[in-house]
Amino acid sequence: MNAHLDPTTLTEPASQTSVSELRGLLERQQAAFAEDPNPDWPTRKGWLKAVGTLVDRHADRFVEAIAADFGHRAHQETRLAELMTARSAITHAKRHTKGWMKGPRTATPLTFWPGKARVITQPKGVAGIVSPWNYPLQLALVPAIAALSAGNRVMLKPSELTPRFSEALRVAVEEHFDADVFTVVTGEVELATAFTSLPFDHLFFTGSTAVGKKVGVAAMEKLVPVTLELGGKSPVILDETADMELAAQRITYGKLLNCGQTCVAPDYLIMPETLVTDMIARLKTVAQTYFPSLDDNPDLTTIVSDRHFKRLQELVADAEAKGATVHRPTPQTGEYDLDALAAQRRMPLTILTNVTPEMAVMQEEIFGPLLPIVTAETTDAALNFIAKGERPLALYWFGNDAVTRERILNQSISGTAAINDTTLQVAVDEIPFGGIGASGMGAYHGRASFDTFSHQKGVFIQSKLSATKWLMPPYRRRSNWLISFLNRWV
Ligand code: NAD
Repeated sequence: MNAHLDPTTLTEPASQTSVSELRGLLERQQAAFAEDPNPDWPTRKGWLKAVGTLVDRHADRFVEAIAADFGHRAHQETRLAELMTARSAITHAKRHTKGWMKGPRTATPLTFWPGKARVITQPKGVAGIVSPWNYPLQLALVPAIAALSAGNRVMLKPSELTPRFSEALRVAVEEHFDADVFTVVTGEVELATAFTSLPFDHLFFTGSTAVGKKVGVAAMEKLVPVTLELGGKSPVILDETADMELAAQRITYGKLLNCGQTCVAPDYLIMPETLVTDMIARLKTVAQTYFPSLDDNPDLTTIVSDRHFKRLQELVADAEAKGATVHRPTPQTGEYDLDALAAQRRMPLTILTNVTPEMAVMQEEIFGPLLPIVTAETTDAALNFIAKGERPLALYWFGNDAVTRERILNQSISGTAAINDTTLQVAVDEIPFGGIGASGMGAYHGRASFDTFSHQKGVFIQSKLSATKWLMPPYRRRSNWLISFLNRWV
């Protein structure tokens, strides 16, 4: 590895880990884990503290590196959605891990008395973590915090699309951790493929559904337990009972946070036709208020790469060619200079109506500031439309009727849900976060984080006195009576 590069000025490439280095690191961590397979609370607390210290010490550098990787990332977004989230995960883990380590209280059924049943919670071993570029700090460190609090060793591979941040993180982790506890490896897709083929004791992947499928297969080859945190199209349902102004504000915020490059961003809106014109006007006004101009506006994050920008332009062109209508806010200057904005990889909120399922924008995850509006006259029609697609990572509902709210929550299947807001469910440490079906498998955050990276070992401690000897062959009248009694008893 070539170390000591300045991560904020770094142009290309960041340090690269070789495949043989990967194997060496894994062996080192496996050996260290074998030496101490169930680290005590003071050790784990020390690790959590060290992550906190590295976040505090390197916060400014991380903010700068992420901004440089994106082209521009609003510093406030990094401080709110990345640094604060990581700090909150550390605080939550510090508060609860000692209690969780005791394992759940377990009753022993009478039939097994005077034996005793117990559950021992233990670390799995070495955890491999793969993270994406869109929230590079949060999605690398929150799973790492989870794995460390559960007593595991951690090898982390951040995204190659944020090389400055990945290098900054690698240097920071190296400063605060021995490589046999927590290490960051960096490299391109080839290294990522080698990484996900390693025989980890748990593999935790955050990224696209397409890559997630490959990672799942690689993990199953070696029967490595795997968590897949994937993406997809997260719908917003809105009905007549909704507060239209609040809905417009919160949908626009969720859509334009990180310029739409958020796994739980509202992907499309589904609502009754009669409300559409009013909603479009409100969305446009709100977007205009949040971002009065787009040109060099420091509050607006840019699209991460030319490839992604082109992909978004093509989604709009494809929808227009197939009959969609485009609506954009109107700036004071009259109209956006889309070409000039494209040179900065900036794009205004782009609302699309008259969309059909044949359009690419309704088939793939958008991951940008485009907002198609689909019409559905009833809650059932909206739910049926959503149920025809893949199971979403998040589902949002705006409305004020408690019966409809409960029906939506109970009848729809999605990884997570929020009512009268978007994206905030991710920030609540007390609830699990994860997808279902095409949006992922497994979950983390709070208690779910600890459980994901722990093995629950069921243990039975037998007593000298036990009736089981009467159940053993040769079977006589007494064993037959006892078996038939037990069958009635249980
Ligand atoms: P991606 O799948 O392209 O890459 C994610 C990671 O996988 C990167 O570290 C990359 O190096 C690695 N990778 C790439 N090809 C690989 C391969 N063949 N084998 C193994 N690893 C490989 O995703 P992305 O573009 O970085 O992120 C955007 C996607 O992630 C979106 O779909 C988004 O919805 C999803 N996402 C999900 C969550 C969540 O929590 N569920 C959070 C953020 C992003």
